Amino acid sequence: MITRTTNNRKAKEMQYNIALLPGDGVGPEVIAEGVKALKRIEVLTEVTFNLEYELVGGIAIDQVGTPLPKVALDLACKSDAVLFGAVGGPKWDNPLAPHRPEDAILGLRKALGLFANLRPVKVFPSLLNSSSLKPSVIEGVDILMIRELTGGLYFAKPKKRWQTSRGRRAVDTLRYTEGEIERVLRVGFELARGRRKKLTSVDKANVLESSRLWREIAIELSSQYPDVELEHMLVDSCAMALVRTPTRFDVLVAENMFGDILTDEAAILAGSLGMLPSSSLAGMPREDNRSRRRALGLYEPIHGSAPDIAGQGKANPIATILSVALMLRYSLGLSEAGSAIEAAVDQVLTQGYRTPDIAEAGASDVLSTSEMGQRIVDAIAL
Ligand code: NAD
Repeated sequence: MITRTTNNRKAKEMQYNIALLPGDGVGPEVIAEGVKALKRIEVLTEVTFNLEYELVGGIAIDQVGTPLPKVALDLACKSDAVLFGAVGGPKWDNPLAPHRPEDAILGLRKALGLFANLRPVKVFPSLLNSSSLKPSVIEGVDILMIRELTGGLYFAKPKKRWQTSRGRRAVDTLRYTEGEIERVLRVGFELARGRRKKLTSVDKANVLESSRLWREIAIELSSQYPDVELEHMLVDSCAMALVRTPTRFDVLVAENMFGDILTDEAAILAGSLGMLPSSSLAGMPREDNRSRRRALGLYEPIHGSAPDIAGQGKANPIATILSVALMLRYSLGLSEAGSAIEAAVDQVLTQGYRTPDIAEAGASDVLSTSEMGQRIVDAIAL
């Protein structure tokens, strides 16, 4: 319970600086609803959120000439957490343009040292029929997917193409250091401790040397977490198990490319892109709000800027509101407030309220973005 206090020193300690980077398309619409949830938490507790907005993405290219202006980067770096909307859209799709809106995300990841991408995939009982998979397969799914974000095939050198007398060739490099593997696996072990205490480490150890190192480090680290059950799974088996028996998973950790593919696959379990939050962390999650440990993180819905529905009040704000819940839990140590937001989402869905993306044909209680946001905010109780 977050108690009210009249102690000024304590109250001052409970101030958090949040950078708000709404971006393009539906980004500003869904961020507005996330902000409402933060303001509701302020009313219910002694916590103060100092909120500051900056431009990123296509709108920043238009107004300042770069997708990640220095002022936005500086704001993110000095904040306790970043809430990011989405960037991009057809207006900025020219592949020959010197800047792309998506460079904002890559720049932030690099500058903030975000190495662990967390995507909880939870199927709300009231939305069992929204997924393309059978309700009997997805009932009870509650997985925390963790993807390594800074290493592996996407970044290591050499990475190039060249011409030979026998045609074109290309190479990418899959390289990992012990430190990179250990820190992301440790996030997995720590978070599994607070859940159902099972960690699935994904690799391709039957073929890849980097995977054999990954598995070795997972086994070494597991001796520090005797309470967590560690299992190893080959990435191809894991891809099948995610759609065949997804309830068998609790926390799942994978290197960058495997994680990229598996997290998108797992997203279909929840029905709509508009439902799924994500968090990218630069350190271990905070356990509580007394911990001085800094756990800077960037929080964002997994969906893009959805230009097809932007400006129409049709975007589902739940992914963003759930991203705020993750922010409270992992970066600010305010787990109880995070759980209160999640419970409010559950309650509103159980009452039958829907945005168009999760509504069944002919449903009557279809809400706009701001109506759904307000319903959830009104249901938050601490
Ligand atoms: P998208 O996620 O924007 O949209 C895919 C589909 O899902 C669309 O039909 C859209 O209407 C729907 N959708 C997305 N979010 C929704 C929400 N909150 N509520 C209801 N429906 C929702 O993916 P896309 O169409 O491939 O990409 C559009 C733009 O977004 C592109 O420029 C792409 O590069 C960019 N993008 C950005 C990010 C990011 O900022 N992190 C991520 C993915 C794509």
